[in-house]
Amino acid sequence: MSSPRDPTYDLVIIGAGINGAGIARDAAGRGLRVLLVEQGDIAAATSQWSTKLIHGGLRYLEQYEFRLVRESLAEREVLLRCAPHLVQPLAFVLPHEPHLRPAWMIRLGLFLYDHLGPREALPGSFGVDLGGGKWGAGLKPRFRKGFVYADARVDDARLVVQNVMAARELGADVRVRTQLTAAKRDGDHWRATLSGPPDVSADVTAKAIINAAGPWVKQVRDMINRSPARENVRHVKGSHIVVPRVHAEAHAYILQNADNRIVFVIPYQDRYTLIGTTDVPVDAFEEPRIAPDEIEYLLALANTYLARPLTAADIVWTFSGVRPLYDDGAADPSAITRDYVFRIDTGANGEGGPAGAPVLSIFGGKLTTYRRLAEHALSELRSYFPRMGPPWTLNRPLPGGDLPPSGLAGWIDELGRRYPALPAPLLRGLAHRHGALATAILREAKTLADLGEDFGEGLTAAEIDYLVREEWARTGDDVLWRRTKCGLAMPEADRERVAAFVARAVAASGAASRP
Ligand SMILES: Cc1cc2nc3c(=O)[nH]c(=O)nc-3n(C[C@H](O)[C@H](O)[C@H](O)COP(=O)(O)OP(=O)(O)OC[C@H]3O[C@@H](n4cnc5c(N)ncnc54)[C@H](O)[C@@H]3O)c2cc1C
Repeated sequence: MSSPRDPTYDLVIIGAGINGAGIARDAAGRGLRVLLVEQGDIAAATSQWSTKLIHGGLRYLEQYEFRLVRESLAEREVLLRCAPHLVQPLAFVLPHEPHLRPAWMIRLGLFLYDHLGPREALPGSFGVDLGGGKWGAGLKPRFRKGFVYADARVDDARLVVQNVMAARELGADVRVRTQLTAAKRDGDHWRATLSGPPDVSADVTAKAIINAAGPWVKQVRDMINRSPARENVRHVKGSHIVVPRVHAEAHAYILQNADNRIVFVIPYQDRYTLIGTTDVPVDAFEEPRIAPDEIEYLLALANTYLARPLTAADIVWTFSGVRPLYDDGAADPSAITRDYVFRIDTGANGEGGPAGAPVLSIFGGKLTTYRRLAEHALSELRSYFPRMGPPWTLNRPLPGGDLPPSGLAGWIDELGRRYPALPAPLLRGLAHRHGALATAILREAKTLADLGEDFGEGLTAAEIDYLVREEWARTGDDVLWRRTKCGLAMPEADRERVAAFVARAVAASGAASRP
């Protein structure tokens, strides 16, 4: 194990998105000395802007991505088991549109989806009559026939944070708001320069670097190698809109469009519906925003199916993320592989020059497959770390994931019994966000007042203090949009109150000057 004062590591991991976080956890658990470096907040980039699904990827079957679908289906089971507070089953209804895909094709696809990977926690697919019943809720009456299959939803940003917490528990050093600005190969070691809060900028040494910089992967790779690599990353923006709930049932819809794409309509945060996504190739990938034609596209598709038409005035929030895909030469951005690809550079010049310390760069990937991606990345580096332990994450719960056998619902009931005077929505929110760790926030509280200032939407001072102390939260946005989604329904004045409280909590804890 390495302390912040001991700047020698086995692995320096660049980027605390889902891939960097997952590798940090896995590697630390195998006994490697790990440093995880993130230039912004944890999950500050693509990993917080996903469609928030842990899914096999039904549509990838049409692209013959069987490896990816099989691995994703298997990982769906693993994550339902290991993070039951963050990952929950979600039923999807596919309304039948015979002119887009014939019924036999959908049945075949769903048969494969049901059988390509292990499926213990979730039911198999089936056909339904949409007329009048719950499965057609909110749809135009012309949709009579549909298909139901199961996938899962996830709190994407929290999945990342809880992997980083697990990595720290296992001995990893974590530096947020710290950027890798240079790295120089020195034989079988790297000397990496980090730039962070003023008093902690530092040089560290490491045996290997993992470049999990997401959309910045090529930039970081070229900076480290000091010459441009042949492989490129394709930046493909995906945007979502959030509107008030379009139906009262628990299921989501998967809607087919005439351009062959699909869009999800997903119940979100009790009161809302999340609609997305788009596929737009972009050059500028920092701070992505939804464009007017993406809004039009999503509204038009939703309105093809929904009985009550949506307009731009219904939109309460939008967000966009950029997929860092491996450039496989596909012309259609929807067809570029979503599978992950690794590239290892060792400094050998291709003409028999000596190989030095490795940097492994990650292209593509899904939230769903992050755990297997971590295992594969570490097995690629095994020859550099012969004493590294074996894979271990398959059945280990993430922090907060060790719920009682009755699962999340049982845990929420249990919290209700233990804290009878606290509002049920507050307990439910804490259980979803923190799982078994909710009691580290609630402690001995008897009344709401015992949790300190109440900011509404289930957010209290006690939780913010915990997020600053245990989860690296440093700003109002870290709390309102990543550690929680309380910002969504909160009036601006309350959001400002939260930001001011976070600033005071950070100053009081001295966290601002700590990485
Ligand atoms: C619109 C959209 C919808 C999606 N939906 C789903 C879905 O429903 N399910 C699913 O499984 N997957 C989904 N994905 C895919 C998934 O979100 C991504 O594959 C995944 O989040 C990528 O994670 P990452 O860790 O590679 O990158 P990121 O999350 O972008 O993390 C990279 C990190 O590296 C940091 N960084 C960069 N350079 C440096 C540096 N020099 N020093 C320090 N830090 C640095 C960045 O700040 C960033 O935080 C979706 C993606 C998009 C865009």
